[in-house]
Parts: sequence; structure tokens; C-alpha cells
Amino acid sequence: MSRIAYVDGAYGPLSAAHVSVEDRGFQFGDAVYEVWAVRGGELLDAEGHFTRLRRSLGELRIAEPMGERALRIVLAETVRRNRVKDGIVYLQVSRGAARRDHAFPDPPVRPTIVVTARAADPRAAAARREKGVAVISAPDIRWGRCDIKTVNLLPNILAKEDAKQKGAFEVWLVNADGLVTEGSASNAWIVDASGRLRTAPKTMNILHGITRDALIRLAEERQIAVDERPFTLEEAYAAREAFLSSASNAALPIVAIDGRTIGEGRPGPLARTLSDAYFGASSD
Ligand code: PMP
Repeated sequence: MSRIAYVDGAYGPLSAAHVSVEDRGFQFGDAVYEVWAVRGGELLDAEGHFTRLRRSLGELRIAEPMGERALRIVLAETVRRNRVKDGIVYLQVSRGAARRDHAFPDPPVRPTIVVTARAADPRAAAARREKGVAVISAPDIRWGRCDIKTVNLLPNILAKEDAKQKGAFEVWLVNADGLVTEGSASNAWIVDASGRLRTAPKTMNILHGITRDALIRLAEERQIAVDERPFTLEEAYAAREAFLSSASNAALPIVAIDGRTIGEGRPGPLARTLSDAYFGASSD
């Protein structure tokens, strides 16, 4: 079965889907995106992702391409047409196509909207969670507005490729102050040497992960305190546990950082508790 994409009002085969070469997403990376996990055919944490999308669009002053109700229908229809039970649905919105000029088109043009969906293998994901993954570290060379979910991901993809070459699943980015900001496509967490659950605060230097928010809620419901305080790489090496969070990976235990074993070298109890809670909570 050919995959189906939604582009600017029409569904069609992904292989034939296209946007203009003058699209500002292509020309300048002048575009935002959003990713929802799909479980049992339903969007997870749907509202949080819609809220973040509105914020990203607002920060870039790109008009909302359609209302939330209409967008929900398009996302659901793209999921349905691609027969995705478990997987992800992607949305990209660019400022639109216009004669190349750095300044915004005046008058504004219609934003370009693209939606695609693809299935994931839940057994592979479960196996990864069971075993845990390795990460490496790299300097965080990104811009000052990492809180906006833009398609400008060059530093992220270069770092991720480096991780892949080194056999690691993810890369943790370390800023000029020696603090771990987040991963290339996930938020970073540790249970530090004194047992505190830590993750960097929501500044402009990280993406405000929707899964991160969900895990904080689930931790607090279980009387587990969350310390939204950044940690150094040294603190991460010495941590009892480490894990990452994202819509596509939920809470994924980390068992090695830069080749150093974390804790016992297997998924830790708190990561497991939060991962189980997340799957329990979000399968309702
Ligand atoms: N940070 C970055 C840089 C990301 O790309 C992502 C996921 N796309 C996240 C964090 C996690 O965000 P979420 O939990 O909303 O998927």
C-alpha cells in the first residue's frame, strides 16, 4: 500500500506529493512542525501538541493554516488512510511559497501545510525500553530559540548522525556552561547521585517537550519530586539512572553515556515506573 500525504487541502500518494521550490520552508527553513504519537489509532497528548503548535506559529508570526477542529480531522484522516495503529503523525506548516526574499512576503501568502503518518513497530520499541539505550554527548551549537519547534534541525541532525556512527541511540547536547540542555530529538533526565529526579527547566534553550510535561505530572501524582534544574555531564555520568523523553520514544531508559555505564547498566526503577505510568495513563 502506498503511503498517503495531505498537502494544502488534498490527500494523495506520498510519492507524488510536492511543495513549490519557492516554499519558504525549503528556501529558509521558515516553517514549524509538530509530531504526535499514535497509539491504538488515537493521538497521544493531543491537546499539548496543539498548544505548542499554536505557540510555535505565533512566535514566527505564521498564520494558523486552519482551526484546531479541522486540523484534528486532517490528522485523523491521514492516520486512517495510512492505516497507522501505532506510530507517528507529522505536521509541517511553512510561511508559504513566495518570490525569494528574506523578509516576510507582503502581503502575506497562504501557509503551506503538509501532514504525513507512519507506523512504528511497538515490539522494537518495547525491546529498546527493556534493554535501555546508549547516548553520547556533543556541544550544543544551536540558536537561542530552541523552544520554537522549527524545521531548522541542522545541528540536531549532524549530532544525531555522529551518535549513529558511534553506535549510540541519541546525543545529549551540552552548552557553554557545561550543562546538558536536551537530546537532539528528546528531553534529558537523570536521577542524580542523591536520588533526585532532574530535568532542565523550560527556558528558550530547550524544546518544551509535551512528553516531559506528561512525565512531570505522572511523577508528581506519585509523590515523586521533580527538580527542574539543569545538570552537568559529570552529574549525568555519576547518576543512578538516566532516561530520555519524546512523543515517539515515551520514557526511554539510558544505560550508558559516552561509553560510561550509568547506575547498574540496566533500566532503573524510576524510569521504569514513569514509563509504565505513561503507557498506563495514555492508553486510556
Ligand atoms: N527536544 C527536541 C529537540 C525534540 O525534537 C523533541 C521531540 N521532537 C523533544 C525534545 C521532545 O518533545 P515531545 O515530548 O513533545 O516529543
